[in-house]
Amino acid sequence: MSRTITVDVENRPGELARIVGLFAARGVNIDSLVVTEPNAGNISSITVTMNIDARTTEQVVRVLDKQVRVLSVRELVTQNQERKTMQALYDKDIDRRALAGKTIAVIGYGSQGHAHANNLKNSGCNVVVGLRESSTSRSKAEEAGLPVRTAAEATRVADVVMMLVPDELAPRVYGEEVAPNLRAGRALAFAHGFAVHFKKIVPPENVDIFMVAPKGPGHLVRQEFVRGRGVPCLVAVERDRSGNARSMALAYAASIGAGRAGILETTFKEETETDLFGEQAVLCGGLTALIQAGFETLVDAGYAPEMAYFECMHEMKLIVDLLYEGGLAKMRHSISNTAEYGDLTRGRRIINNAVRAEMQRLLADIQSGKFADEWMAECEAGKPSFNKLETDGLRHPIEEVGKRLRSMMPWLEKDQKTEAQQEAANVVR
Ligand code: NAD
Ligand code: MG
Repeated sequence: MSRTITVDVENRPGELARIVGLFAARGVNIDSLVVTEPNAGNISSITVTMNIDARTTEQVVRVLDKQVRVLSVRELVTQNQERKTMQALYDKDIDRRALAGKTIAVIGYGSQGHAHANNLKNSGCNVVVGLRESSTSRSKAEEAGLPVRTAAEATRVADVVMMLVPDELAPRVYGEEVAPNLRAGRALAFAHGFAVHFKKIVPPENVDIFMVAPKGPGHLVRQEFVRGRGVPCLVAVERDRSGNARSMALAYAASIGAGRAGILETTFKEETETDLFGEQAVLCGGLTALIQAGFETLVDAGYAPEMAYFECMHEMKLIVDLLYEGGLAKMRHSISNTAEYGDLTRGRRIINNAVRAEMQRLLADIQSGKFADEWMAECEAGKPSFNKLETDGLRHPIEEVGKRLRSMMPWLEKDQKTEAQQEAANVVR
């Protein structure tokens, strides 16, 4: 079985040779070895891939841990991992009576909040929206025919309280408004496991805790529902006090339209950790860094920024649309043979073992709660790094050239407007 061991070591002369020597001394055959550039703390990460059994791995890890200045040891089983296929549930599998006669407080009326509140209402549920007195969303919710209260008042009258405020604000809103009014036997629900899994919110023992997390942004959850379809949803139960938590979670998911698309059952831990990893390594962090690095490489080599923008940013959408519709196979079928050969032979040189080792470090920081603590501390300090990095991003040359080029493509703006208008129409309905 192939295994990967990643260790963090201090970057000093002789250290790498010493570690490789430890493997060699045990007769372990190394398939690949990658050393990353040292980070700001002069720490390099070494990833070693080997075909060894569990016992040898254990021995090697023990020796590594003792004999060299190893700062952390992680082990990854890369093959033969068996896992049950997740079974999707649909409307026919779900009894919506679990929510009959219950009042649902939707706290927050943003992206997810407006979609949940309106879909639940259209499904015949009793909904009350919880918002601050000063919230600009109040009028929008009222125009949609939804009763609006403060979060505290909404909690008081609710059987199920769905927290749909931004994750970084949730602990405060929960502590100040929800917790003091949350009666025993009620259910507390979330659309993301972050606050509960990382213990930023610790609900009392006498309530149910479940999650209904749509795999899409709120406007899509609303738009698909209005069209008679739905967005797939994850459902999880963290605590089942009443014996009804799972039934309520499934009924809730079905009531926002997910039973038309597929409901998958997971845990708070799995949803939270995979969600954070996906957005950091692939969807947001990985993608934006990849686009910028490609753009910078072409511009530094003397090519026109306009060309670099089209190649590294603009065309991304065309590729992603194909991936979305038919996976890697459809995308590879649609591109030219030349592009496909470049893809197949060069992709792994970019996302190489060093990048994979860094992915493991990201994942470890997510699993240990280090990332969550860092983000919460950043929020408490008023988001200084967040704001600076966001502003720096706006100043990147790719944004400048992008603005200019997009203005030459008026159809892009028109598409956006149509979508936004459609969304507005859906929300009002
Ligand atoms: P959002 O930023 O779009 O909306 C937040 C809402 O909370 C706003 O209506 C705001 O007015 C309200 N709010 C802020 N402070 C408040 C307070 N003190 N009292 C009451 N209301 C207050 O947030 P969102 O993106 O809908 O995220 C909500 C939850 O859904 C999060 O847990 C998020 O992780 C999860 N989620 C989001 C998406 C997505 O695509 N946006 C997808 C799946 C899950
Ligand atoms: Mg996500």
